[in-house]
Amino acid sequence: VEETLVLIKPDGVARSLTGEILRRIEAKGYSLVDIRLVQADRDLLAAHYAEHEGKPFYEPLVEFMMSGPVVAIRVAGDRVIEGFRSLAGATDPTSAAPGTVRGDLGRDWGLAVQQNLVHGSDSPESAARELALWFG
Ligand code: ATP
Repeated sequence: VEETLVLIKPDGVARSLTGEILRRIEAKGYSLVDIRLVQADRDLLAAHYAEHEGKPFYEPLVEFMMSGPVVAIRVAGDRVIEGFRSLAGATDPTSAAPGTVRGDLGRDWGLAVQQNLVHGSDSPESAARELALWFG
């Protein structure tokens, strides 16, 4: 069975949306294999977001991700990598479709970084790399 890394970002934890997001993952039929509340440090985020280093939103993104705890979840299921990204919706909450986590609940207006509530790995290679980073 395929596995992915889901993160509930600090905005989701602060807005008490952890339960709502877990509910959507479970309702879809995916399994929660492991879960932890993490205060991420700069080293972890630099490794996680290595592909974005140097982009204009990189530093605000890292600051945002350090602004509070993150819920890291190991999620398993058939085609869960693609499936969770469908549940999450487009990166930009304004254009994310209604029915998705970001479309229904995400905010971006007036913020340096899209506070789009969740992260999901985008490929089997990313999932393996990211699960190793967050679950060791
Ligand atoms: P994630 O990787 O978090 O699931 P994603 O794959 O939809 O999201 P990426 O392009 O990998 O998006 O960007 C990572 C994160 O960086 C986004 O989720 C968002 O928080 C932030 N981000 C991406 N692009 C922008 C942008 N143009 N302006 C502000 N923030 C951005």
